Amino acid sequence: MGFVETEIQKFENPNCAENNVFYQAMEEVIYSIAPLLESDKKYVKYSILERLVVPDRTIKFKVTWLDDNNQIQVNTGYRIQYNNALGPYKGGLRFHPSVNEGVLKFLGFEQILKNALTGLPIGGAKGGSDFDPKGKSDSEIMKFCKSFIIELHKYIGPCIDVPAGDIGVGSREIGYLFGEYKKITSRYEGVFTGKPFFFGGSLMRPEATGYGVIYFTQSMLEMESKDTLEGKICTVSGAGNVAIHAIEKLLQIGALPVSCSDSGGTIYDSRGVDLELLKEMKFEKRESLEKYLQTHPEAKYIPIEEYPEGGHAVWDIPCYAAFPCATQNELTEIDAQNLIQNGCVSVTEGANMPSTPEAIDLLQSHKICFAPAKAANAGGVVVSEFEMSQNASMSRWSFEKVDEKLKSTMEMICKRVALTAKDYGVEGNYVDGANIAGFKKVADAMIAEGI
Ligand code: GLU
Repeated sequence: MGFVETEIQKFENPNCAENNVFYQAMEEVIYSIAPLLESDKKYVKYSILERLVVPDRTIKFKVTWLDDNNQIQVNTGYRIQYNNALGPYKGGLRFHPSVNEGVLKFLGFEQILKNALTGLPIGGAKGGSDFDPKGKSDSEIMKFCKSFIIELHKYIGPCIDVPAGDIGVGSREIGYLFGEYKKITSRYEGVFTGKPFFFGGSLMRPEATGYGVIYFTQSMLEMESKDTLEGKICTVSGAGNVAIHAIEKLLQIGALPVSCSDSGGTIYDSRGVDLELLKEMKFEKRESLEKYLQTHPEAKYIPIEEYPEGGHAVWDIPCYAAFPCATQNELTEIDAQNLIQNGCVSVTEGANMPSTPEAIDLLQSHKICFAPAKAANAGGVVVSEFEMSQNASMSRWSFEKVDEKLKSTMEMICKRVALTAKDYGVEGNYVDGANIAGFKKVADAMIAEGI
């Protein structure tokens, strides 16, 4: 048995299906970092991998709240404080019925390496709840958030752990969470990021992940000597914060984003997605994408159930560059095949781990430029760290300053990833480059700190 197999075997737990996505994320990292562990024995000597895959602590709690019918509802809340070798625990909160400990472990583990890649002083964490915000009234969302923070406030702080948003958690939810935190503690401090701008948020935090995804792609295409995105057809999945702002930046740079999707289906609008309509539907009215056709009857709506098993309509649309920005494992091997057949040149992950391992292997073997989430979607957490900086120094940066710093940070991450891949003999492999560069940074800090 080879080194990688031995390492993986140490962590396998076939009885726990909940942990599947976590093992998927971990296996990818172990395969990637094999050349590093083999060339420098100190990481094995100090048992870095064994220490890194186990969170520092997992906080699990009950969240009880009253719905609009005066019925008591019970959900589970979590915060996984994974690793703080490089700075305070940092990472989002996800509110979605699919949330469980395994999903949050995968997201938290990825977050450690993502945050390390930014070069900023932030550790890795993730949290959330199986609470489903879909169809809930504003007052129900507020009651849930307040109940959630009554438990969580004991474990967070600007130098301890700084949560932010993720799926189901935007500035409205962060506002309610922070409001209750202030009431309980009487402290006005940078304990959350992604706050609304008028009470302590940073300009450009909502746009940051989506814009960062495009900045990373521009940089990668340049490094790989490919054509720019200007004038090119691009496909985007998702219709949340990341997808919408990726579409916005694509339009700004003169590309043609033609798709978006939600849990019900995919919109294909060959003349380019109507951004203002999409924003209104998703940010203000919280409507299903099907309604897009009421304004644009010439666009196509493909309901999810109409598509062949294992494939997704959005990845069957011919494009130059694809941007999976919805959720984990949404781009399968069949989708990768369709993208390749249709002449796609690059795939950039906007969501966390949206491509299956088989899809990644296939794309890479066909020399498609592939940018993994932990590098390409780091823009959100980068601007979160800028928000922490602004809060700590009681200052406010202009939109232009944040944008400029975000762009240069994404370019730096792209270069670091590409150069690391080259140094370790896997030139052009951004997955391995990101995993090695991120792991090395955290591992060196862990060694320096002692046990
Ligand atoms: N949830 C985002 C991510 O996956 C942002 C985390 C943050 O801003 O702390 O990176």
